Amino acid sequence: MKKKCSTIILILALLLSILLAGASCDKREDVTTYELWLDFTDDGVECVQKLTFVNNTEYEFLDLKLNVYANAFDSKKPLPCTSQEQSEAYPNGVSFGEFKLRDVYGDFDSYGFDFDSNLITVNLLQPLTPKESFTLEFIYSLTLPNTTLRYGFNERGLTMTGFYPQLCAIVDGDWYYDEFSAIGDPYFSDVADYEVTFNLPDGCEYVTSGTSKASECDGETLITAKAKNIRDYALVISPELQKTTEEYKGVELNYLGSNPYTLTYAKKALDAYCAMFGEYAYDSLSIADMPFVAGGMEYGSLCVINEDIKNTEYEEVVAHEIAHQWWYSTVGSNNLISAWQDEGLTNYSTYLYFVEHCNIEYAELMLSDAYSQYQRFCDIQNSVGEPAKGKLGGRLVDFPSNYYYTNLTYNKSLITWKYAQDALGRDNLVKALAAYAKKYRFAIASEDDLWNSLDESIPNASSIVKSFIASQ
Ligand SMILES: [Zn+2]
Repeated sequence: MKKKCSTIILILALLLSILLAGASCDKREDVTTYELWLDFTDDGVECVQKLTFVNNTEYEFLDLKLNVYANAFDSKKPLPCTSQEQSEAYPNGVSFGEFKLRDVYGDFDSYGFDFDSNLITVNLLQPLTPKESFTLEFIYSLTLPNTTLRYGFNERGLTMTGFYPQLCAIVDGDWYYDEFSAIGDPYFSDVADYEVTFNLPDGCEYVTSGTSKASECDGETLITAKAKNIRDYALVISPELQKTTEEYKGVELNYLGSNPYTLTYAKKALDAYCAMFGEYAYDSLSIADMPFVAGGMEYGSLCVINEDIKNTEYEEVVAHEIAHQWWYSTVGSNNLISAWQDEGLTNYSTYLYFVEHCNIEYAELMLSDAYSQYQRFCDIQNSVGEPAKGKLGGRLVDFPSNYYYTNLTYNKSLITWKYAQDALGRDNLVKALAAYAKKYRFAIASEDDLWNSLDESIPNASSIVKSFIASQ
């Protein structure tokens, strides 16, 4: 990655403006906001972050807790992938990142960074009561790992996700967190608004969460991106990929890559999911094809797709990651203990995408693959005396392998929703899921919330689905 010299002056100027704004600004916000300034340099990224947490709960908080997912890529930690993924995740050899916290500013009592648990805890001077807000400023530096995992750089460009201190999700009035897991997606947060400004390295293109504008400053291109109600912020920068932008039914579509069909698939996905589950929640949707260790990954209004995947499987991944904009980004769920909740609905939505667009053959293939793989998995578990019958969710860190995790989270979940469709009726189920999406828009739904929501639309639906899960 090439760019000009570090614009330290720019950062200092920005820092000053933040601190001044923090000191003088007393305006009430009604939503948690992250403002980030990123300076890409030859050595890494210098970051300034202003966070205004708005306590929209009925609880008081004595502290704020933030995940530092980037710290999981540090050389003193276990690798953030499984041993089976290692060679694909690090094609140029194992590489590490570094998150260096330089300082935290704000009107608090004390703060600490627990390196082992990747957590920053800020102890407040007094309890933060409902409707109150609290502002913090963080200064930190990032060294990016060379990897095809979700955060770092590779030969195609930079993937900036999970790189910033991010408030833990709030569950029942507490900050919810767990240790980092190499299996699954150990990322869990509430939605927030974002405004991110960065210098675009020379000759590069980018896609970002939200919509963005460019400006010139001292010969550099500065980009400012704004996004509302996203669950996490993502940015992909590439010195070689082409960017295509189109408007579709009021949504700005951005694509970084060379597949001529990607935006067509994106439009088909938006059409299918909007019709079934309610309107798309954002004003933009961006997709980047990158080297990636899995099929793809979802972020707030942005999806990364593995560039090596081709043909209808590629379409499936695009449709899958876009379905996550409903089941993950808009309707949150606890990935740390019930990953099946968004993955299952996402897989089922992808199945419906193919049905809606009359590729019944591929929809049937998705199902038959899920059935046969899950059956083989159950046979293996039975043969070693550890039957998986009745299982579905669980803590990510307790899954014995990716194989185990995939079979429950993806295959069994898809089979379950297909069973629910057959038992409850396709239209009834789709309507119930649309009601669930509406009720938990920009919130976090627990498993019980999902079951209760189903029952509100279709009496007794949850016990039918639960008994199927228990029997399989
Ligand atoms: Zn998924």
